[in-house]
This record gives sequence, structure tokens and C-alpha cells, in this order.
Amino acid sequence: AEALLEVRDLKKYFPIKGKMFKPTTYVKAVDGVSFTIQKGETVGLVGESGCGKSTTGRALLHLLPPTGGEVIYKGKDLTSLSAGELRLLRRELQIVFQDPYASLDPRMKIRDVLLEPLEIHRIGSKQERLQMVEEILDIVGLGGHYANRYPHEFSGGQRQRIGIARSLILRPSLIVADEPVSALDVSIQSQILNLLQDLQEQFDLTYLFISHDLSVVKHISDRVGVMYLGRLVEFAPKEKLYASPAHPYTQALLSAAPVANPDAKPQRIILTGDVPSPANPPSGCAFHTRCPYVMDKCKTDRPELAPLDGEGHLVACHLHQS
Ligand code: SF4
Ligand code: MG
Repeated sequence: AEALLEVRDLKKYFPIKGKMFKPTTYVKAVDGVSFTIQKGETVGLVGESGCGKSTTGRALLHLLPPTGGEVIYKGKDLTSLSAGELRLLRRELQIVFQDPYASLDPRMKIRDVLLEPLEIHRIGSKQERLQMVEEILDIVGLGGHYANRYPHEFSGGQRQRIGIARSLILRPSLIVADEPVSALDVSIQSQILNLLQDLQEQFDLTYLFISHDLSVVKHISDRVGVMYLGRLVEFAPKEKLYASPAHPYTQALLSAAPVANPDAKPQRIILTGDVPSPANPPSGCAFHTRCPYVMDKCKTDRPELAPLDGEGHLVACHLHQS
């Protein structure tokens, strides 16, 4: 398979204004993240709130301009494109947000919500656009007759279907789904996940699926990356990550998550302490303040993400590196 997207050493720093005469400091929300997404696959990104997973999704789409690194999409480095070139590609790279209500303008009818991206990208005649709106509503499991309604007239699940329709109407190749089911009831979550999977097959879509929920990510992903304080600490095919997590942080996340077969857990690690501030992350391995296996060198040397085997399992931990 070919890589549709390659993220190389992606960085997104946010300045925090220092006090007078003090230099500006930065929150390193994303600090050197590298991974690939193959065409047609779903890569999951997991981690606790504030680990940088959403920022990674936005930075790779250039919704937030990256501070550094490269994002190679179909052989082109997005970070080197002009605004005009980027606008053309925008059509192919879409996002679905967590809160479908917050991302829909309450004063706009669903028809206009869905027409907007077509108008921005000057796609089709007016008549064709209206037809595309009806078509996309059918595709996401709503009827064309919903077009006249306003967002508040829909349930949470229906609103997320509209959010998905809006990103899908431009026929993108890559969709970043940022916590797309986190605001929904569990019973509705699986409907939306199934819809996303059906659409993936039907339209040959590639997903980056971001969630704090390990069971949701397990359900939908082919490969999964685990983030901690702005960096990937583990990346592996789904089966490996869930059956034999190598990073103590991943082991801790899986220990905490309710899973169907508790005997399959390799080891129980209870996470203690809060996530340190990304404005002032611990030295060396950023997880060392919470890691039960911490060694001296963990406090000074930052472990790089490196292969654990020849089969795509990568981990950033001194326990696995000499
Ligand atoms: Fe723990 Fe050290 Fe591995 Fe970090 S590098 S996860 S502190 S053992
Ligand atoms: Mg987030």
C-alpha cells in the first residue's frame, strides 16, 4: 500500500507571553510527531485530554499552521504550498468535529449548511448543488426532506450525520475525525461508527480517528498511535497494541479501560498523579514522573520512537532500547 499522508517531525508550539523582560515561552502541544497513513486505512490517535492529539489533527490539515515539520500528501509537502494551492487541496482534506451542534450555525437551514462548502469550492451549477445536497443526506442516512430544517430540530446523532455529510459532500480522500462520537450516547455511538465504516468502503476514504476512548479507537482503527505530552510514545497495528502494549503509559491506559476480556491484560498499571503541564514538561522521558519502571536515564535522556520488531510496532521507552 502507498502512504496517502506522511507526517514528519510535526510541531505545533503555542507562545505564552512571558512577563515583561522575560523571553516568550511555548507550550509544545505537538513536539515532533511522525507517522504515515496508508490509503484506505484508519489510523487512531489516543491519549488523555491535552496530549496534543487534536492539535496534531488540525496542524496536519493546516487548520493550524504547523511550527515545524512536513506533511506530505500525495507526494506534496503541504507546509511548502501557497495559500492558493492549499485551498485547492482543502477539498480533499476534511474534518469532522466532536460537537456537531457547536460546529453547525443554528440560523442556517441544513440545506445551506451543506451548500456552503460547494459554493466555496465553486462546484456544480445551482441545480446540481441542490441535487448533491439531497444525495448526501440520503447517503448519511437522513432523507432529502430534512434539508429545510434547522440544526436544533435534530438529535445529537442526526447532527453528527449532518457534520459527516458536510465533510463528505466535497468527496475528500482524507477525513480527520476528532472525537466524532464522544458527545453521543453509547447506543448512538455505534451507529455513527458503523456509518463511518460504511462510508469508508463506499468512498474509498482514509481516516485519522482521534479519541480519548480506547474501545472506540479499537473498534474502528487499523493502526493506533498513543500520545503523551505532545509526542507519540507507541504506534502499532491495532491487534498488537491492544494485546501486547509495550509502553508503560499504554499499559496504564489499557489497565484503566474496561475491556471485554480482563485476563488478556498483560499487566495492571495504575496511573497516579496528574498529567504534567505541557508548558513545562518533565525532562528526559516525559512520562518518568508517573512511570513505575523509571530508571536514572529516563530523567535525562529522551527516548525516541523506534522499532520493537520488524512488523510496525514502534515504542519510545528505554526499557525496550539499549
Ligand atoms: Fe518509564 Fe523510562 Fe520507559 Fe519512560 S523511558 S516509559 S520513564 S521506563
Ligand atoms: Mg481534543
